[in-house]
Amino acid sequence: VQPSSISADLEFLASELMAGRNTPSPELELAANYLLSRVQRMGLQPGAAGRWFQEYPLERTRMSTESRLWIEVGDVRLEHEPLTGYLLFDRSRGTFAREGACVGIGDGSKPTLAALPEGTLEGLWAVARQRPEHLQSVRRRLQKSGAVGLLILSEETREDEKDESSLTATTRKALDGNVSLALPAKIGGDDAPVAKSRRRKREPFPILGLRPGATARLFAEFGSPDCAPGVSLELRVHAERVVDTETLHVRNLCALLPGSDPGRAADVILCSAHYDHVGVRRGETYPGADDNASGTAGLLALAEASVARGPLDRSVLFVWLSGEEKGLWGSKAYCQDPPLGPGLRVVANLNIDMIGRTRAEDLYITPSADHEAFNPFAGLVYELAPAEGFGPLISQDEFYSASDHYNFAKLLEVPVVFLSTGDHPDYHKPTDTVDKLDVSKIARVVRLGLRVLDATPALEFARAEATR
Ligand SMILES: [Zn+2]
Repeated sequence: VQPSSISADLEFLASELMAGRNTPSPELELAANYLLSRVQRMGLQPGAAGRWFQEYPLERTRMSTESRLWIEVGDVRLEHEPLTGYLLFDRSRGTFAREGACVGIGDGSKPTLAALPEGTLEGLWAVARQRPEHLQSVRRRLQKSGAVGLLILSEETREDEKDESSLTATTRKALDGNVSLALPAKIGGDDAPVAKSRRRKREPFPILGLRPGATARLFAEFGSPDCAPGVSLELRVHAERVVDTETLHVRNLCALLPGSDPGRAADVILCSAHYDHVGVRRGETYPGADDNASGTAGLLALAEASVARGPLDRSVLFVWLSGEEKGLWGSKAYCQDPPLGPGLRVVANLNIDMIGRTRAEDLYITPSADHEAFNPFAGLVYELAPAEGFGPLISQDEFYSASDHYNFAKLLEVPVVFLSTGDHPDYHKPTDTVDKLDVSKIARVVRLGLRVLDATPALEFARAEATR
């Protein structure tokens, strides 16, 4: 395990050129291609059913410029543009159009809405003069009572709305595009834990806030309406949101070191690290040197050392996952449809994420010996960590669901172990830079990983159903 080679990988992966390796981004693809060129030279085999990459789909929805909001008073129609004229306070996805007359809802509070006679809001736009408190519960109540949307006509910017960037965040996000994981429902239906757990789609319910300038113009023309609860207003609102949907693909890189024992080579020990990070925010690059260029480079070093040592009885699969920061997308996609050859099955997962910081002797583990998911594979880490100079292992069971091993445990039901060198003040900050990494510590974590792999022939893994 060469610290100098780890350093070279780190320098590239956490460089400004990588722009924080956001999922999806051109830089993430560049990082994937870099990793591919590294593993190809090692003499590993393509590990995604004969290919190097597992691709999985994302969906980007973007509010189109064809979207419209107009407010009519008599024959006069005032049209408003998103961001400058009005803001979105809902996260409705998908295309819809809502038109209707308006009725006031006062402050929109629970008692106010409860006091309205049944059917008052049916088919109408609810209108408030201020953004109601507890907007999401207000939305639920309005939606239940048959309102088609909520329009907020605020004449001034409230104290708690003065932070322009948080006030406009939802609107800017809708215009820039929301990206989500778009896994197809697995064929066969019942054994599709991922597809089943996807949230039920909610009916869109527009919550639109006219900005003070636009509200002032409206009121200047037509007088300011009393938005008393249940009182009809001389306004008609037409809101039409046109959403363009685009499918994108991102990749997990899979490199296989086939096992040498014909009786065990179908068993796959999967070693993983996510290579994505959070990208650029407000013009600042988040290099993600520890999170997780360290694990990405560490996994390259582990793969390289594994090839040099020669095959184990079982196969070892090295997987560089994308989309972790967005919600463990890469591992979710992997587990929904593991792209292994026929008969192969994952029997265990070693995941490394953030392995280059904190004191030399500190190593964090989950599941720890106290965790219900503790297993003999994780037990090897306890046994072997002292040989690499680590002190008593520190539990990070509070992060058991925080990285990709969680999906392997939950969806593939295999023993997992997650190693990290722990949290630090630069976590998810632009200051998570390469110069702060302890490269010799990364090398020690890698050597520990190698020791763990070397010790696995003594373990039996439960003979679960083949994953494919
Ligand atoms: Zn991470």
